[in-house]
Amino acid sequence: MLGCALQYYKNIDKDSPSPLSQKNIYPLSRNDFNTITIQQLFKGYSSDKFNDFEFTESPRVYTNADYKFEYLKIAEWCDNNCTFCIIPKIRGKQKSLPIENIIQEAQNMIANGIEEIILIAQDSTRYGTDLYGKPMLFELLQELENLKGNFTFRLLYLYPDILSLEHLKKLTTFKKFIPYFDIPLQHVSAPILKRMGRFYDEQAIGNFLDFIKNNFKTRFIRTNIIIGFPWETQEDQNKLLKFLEKDYFDNIALFEYHDEPYAASSKLPNKVDEKIIRERFLDVDNLVDQLLTTKRDKRKWQKETGYIMEIKEKKWAYKLIVRPSLYCPDIDPYDTISLENVTKIYTKTEILNIWDKIDYII
Ligand code: SF4
Repeated sequence: MLGCALQYYKNIDKDSPSPLSQKNIYPLSRNDFNTITIQQLFKGYSSDKFNDFEFTESPRVYTNADYKFEYLKIAEWCDNNCTFCIIPKIRGKQKSLPIENIIQEAQNMIANGIEEIILIAQDSTRYGTDLYGKPMLFELLQELENLKGNFTFRLLYLYPDILSLEHLKKLTTFKKFIPYFDIPLQHVSAPILKRMGRFYDEQAIGNFLDFIKNNFKTRFIRTNIIIGFPWETQEDQNKLLKFLEKDYFDNIALFEYHDEPYAASSKLPNKVDEKIIRERFLDVDNLVDQLLTTKRDKRKWQKETGYIMEIKEKKWAYKLIVRPSLYCPDIDPYDTISLENVTKIYTKTEILNIWDKIDYII
């Protein structure tokens, strides 16, 4: 968790400008990382005192500009209390950027050739609660949708508890929204969700997923699952397997539970034996593997649109590593294709480049 934040800071390298122009690009600064010690973070450094998440006018380098996408952090830290997570403990309450600053940053991105803006936060659904007294995510998305320019946007980390079908209906009206749903469920069994400190149930989740399936012709749904949380029984595991068999997801990240020393869950009784966690993990992993392999096979010979991420040469033959445009960079698996599978190149150049947008047959 903290590691990701530090990595993000490291990536903002002012001495290595992107080939795209640096003018009019601004950072969400990370200056306070210079003055905070690890001990302070673990003591519970409050985000009120923590001045690292603000809009400033010093230059920001878009490190992913070559690939035409960039991350835009709309809020930092978190108001939830998931018992397995230490983020709220070490970093404090949610801190959102004002809508006008996010829109200004998005305009800068579009002006600098970014075609895909990826909105991120620890809990995107609660964006704005600290600033406006209520969640303002969908108001923000509407403003983003209203911007002119050749771009789309993707939204990560939708926490399901305050998500509603009305919200999902609103998403169907956005033309620039990439129908990518990243909903980290962690589990579906009610007793486990309760002990995780997560407030939704299987029925509500099913309703969301059915709505997405029925209303977005093309879509990508991703989730995370933790296996072997304290008190998890074979019955909870069976519920999880049955739910996954409904085959809603295009990508699933699985984690085996382990105690984090500062997390509340580490103090819960009824820990699941490590061997049993391993066995349950392998059961879920096998099922997920089967489901995702079948999905991958169904894509064969289909037409796709995507971005070239890498060109590999092997014995005079070229292979292209391509990110399908629906898939999220850095998270979802890429396709590997031959040159002859390319049916259209969007960029008007003679030679293929690593950032070109193409149509291809898988
Ligand atoms: S939503 Fe839960 S898991 Fe995610 S950052 Fe907040 S407390 Fe941690």
